[in-house]
Amino acid sequence: MNVLGETLKLDRPLVLATRNRGKIAEFKELLGGTAIELRSLDDFGPIPPVVENGETFEDNAVIKARFTARVLGLPAIADDSGLTVKALGGEPGVFSARYAGEGATDRENNLRLLDRMKGITEREAAFTCVLAIAVPRGPALVYEGICNGLISEGLSGDQGFGYDPLFYYPPLKKTFARMTQAEKNRVSHRGKAMAELKGELEKVCIWLRQRLSEEPF
Ligand code: IMP
Repeated sequence: MNVLGETLKLDRPLVLATRNRGKIAEFKELLGGTAIELRSLDDFGPIPPVVENGETFEDNAVIKARFTARVLGLPAIADDSGLTVKALGGEPGVFSARYAGEGATDRENNLRLLDRMKGITEREAAFTCVLAIAVPRGPALVYEGICNGLISEGLSGDQGFGYDPLFYYPPLKKTFARMTQAEKNRVSHRGKAMAELKGELEKVCIWLRQRLSEEPF
């Protein structure tokens, strides 16, 4: 077995706390080449919905990872992300997905943000992504990635999702919605959090094996 297979392995699957196809694909790529068996919520029967009532992205990522680990009795990984706008005191923050109301579309959220930014010249904003890894009992590990940018005056580009058409990234002189997936991954909050986790994957596996050895299978 190669070095990766030797150190990056677990005696049980790691559950990704999502049913989002895009996220599942990204995490599969992250863990490719390791002996970690990744599962997602789609591999299990219905489980109760988690209440994401944290005040920060970290709170919500930990809530999701811990809840999934407890319900399924397996180690779990979850992510939470969103946009914070300086001039709006951090809005939309943990409400990013439902800024224009429960069940709002990306376009509705974008238009609400544009409306809130009318007449405001201070356009600084940041995307944050927090990854949390938890076992059924005990503490969680957390990784964070941040990407700074500006809220543009209008929608630009048709790639990506969420607030990508409004998030202007000065170093590349375009919005996230005008980037290819690979370009965005290199600079994005999610890409950075993933890179940080990847850099520590060996330590994470050691930590997980240690924590799990203290729990019943
Ligand atoms: P969640 O992490 O899936 O809960 O996403 C929260 C919300 O934040 C999404 O619905 C988007 O509105 C926004 N968001 C998070 N990451 C991105 C991104 O990379 N681009 C655009 N919007 C994002």
